[in-house]
Amino acid sequence: MTGHPHRPAPRHADETGSARTVRSVSFGGGVQSTCLLVLAAQGSIDFKTFLFANVGHDSEHPDTLRYVHDVAMPYAASHGIELLELQRIPKKGVAKGQSETVWGRLTRPDSRSLPIPVRMSNGAPGTRGCTADWKVRVVGAELRRRGATVENPATVALGISVDEIERAKPGIDPKARYQRRVYPLLDLGLRRSDCQRIIADAGLRVPRRSACYFCPLHSNEEWRSLKRHTPELFERACWLESHLNERRRSLGKDEVWLTRYGRPLAEVIDDQLTFDAPGADGCDSGWCMT
Ligand code: SF4
Repeated sequence: MTGHPHRPAPRHADETGSARTVRSVSFGGGVQSTCLLVLAAQGSIDFKTFLFANVGHDSEHPDTLRYVHDVAMPYAASHGIELLELQRIPKKGVAKGQSETVWGRLTRPDSRSLPIPVRMSNGAPGTRGCTADWKVRVVGAELRRRGATVENPATVALGISVDEIERAKPGIDPKARYQRRVYPLLDLGLRRSDCQRIIADAGLRVPRRSACYFCPLHSNEEWRSLKRHTPELFERACWLESHLNERRRSLGKDEVWLTRYGRPLAEVIDDQLTFDAPGADGCDSGWCMT
């Protein structure tokens, strides 16, 4: 499922032979998980392993990938912290051993799969498999490789801040029972603005919110920002929406959208009368956008 097949697995037991608990942070390359990285470097939280599940070079916002590679990884290395990048390597659908990206799955000519939370005609996001397939399972495979089991689950820290507390679901993940979720930013009472300050005080540039640039959970403001600052990515998102609908029409299926307005993205974002409803958008899992 994940990369790095040739790297030897670390030992799973201490000198007394008892199993150690695997501990890691799910690193998204955004504000909250970068704050966790700084806190770990400063010794404020006890995590030495950060796992970044990259959903695709053609899917993550390029700024996020630049930040992970140019800022976070050198910072982690200089503080003795392992920041490991992982990719989804499925058993079928792509050439053996090749990684699969979210964009790649969506645009594959023979694909009928719709893993992202596209909006239906009523504006509600559909079910999604992207977070589970490209984040939870990819990180989970690495945790199991390091010794996590249902009997001795890994402790996985997720970057949820106090202002997003409703996203937190502490304890054993019922869909991945070899991992127990913890939320250090909540324990420390930190808000997103605190995280930004902590990152800046450490001398690091503050990253953007991490997510696929075409994620249907974007707020209108995020779409407008994408259009303003990276029009080529906005165009690609518009193309994706239209491409998905062409395919769905050929299959006799109803249309889907990247926003909740039931209209093409380009029209919606040009319409200055579309406002964000508080709490209407965002990822509720804690695995994306951190
Ligand atoms: S950012 Fe959005 S589209 Fe990308 S994996 Fe997460 S939920 Fe899916």
